[in-house]
Amino acid sequence: MSVTVTDCLFCRIVAGEIPADKVHETDTVVAFRDITPRAKVHSLVIPKEHHESLAELATAAPGLVADVFAAAGEVAAKEGVAQTGYRLVSNVGEDGGQEVAHVHVHVLGAQSMGPVGV
Ligand code: IMP
Repeated sequence: MSVTVTDCLFCRIVAGEIPADKVHETDTVVAFRDITPRAKVHSLVIPKEHHESLAELATAAPGLVADVFAAAGEVAAKEGVAQTGYRLVSNVGEDGGQEVAHVHVHVLGAQSMGPVGV
């Protein structure tokens, strides 16, 4: 999967070219509600810098991995699910079901998740 930064949907959200329902933002990351929520709470946390997947991010910019997961915790707190629990998911590549080639972590909660499915 290969996408240029200028074509990247999530880079365009970071740039403010496409609106997003933001729930959290820092200098390095932004979190916004998923446009097609699959749970009562469903937000996406992304680094502002373009990296294709969590696997690439872990190698290229490990500090940003920490920023993304710290922000996921902040999103969970802001969305009121920090105490009840939530699920973090990051799809990697085609078989992983990744549709947007800009690393993102799904924050899913406010309902019982059940076992991880395929
Ligand atoms: P993936 O399948 O893990 O790549 O997840 C991509 C997610 O981005 C999906 O859950 C989509 O619903 C979500 N999405 C796509 N376009 C937008 C948008 O413009 N705003 C918010 N979420 C989006």
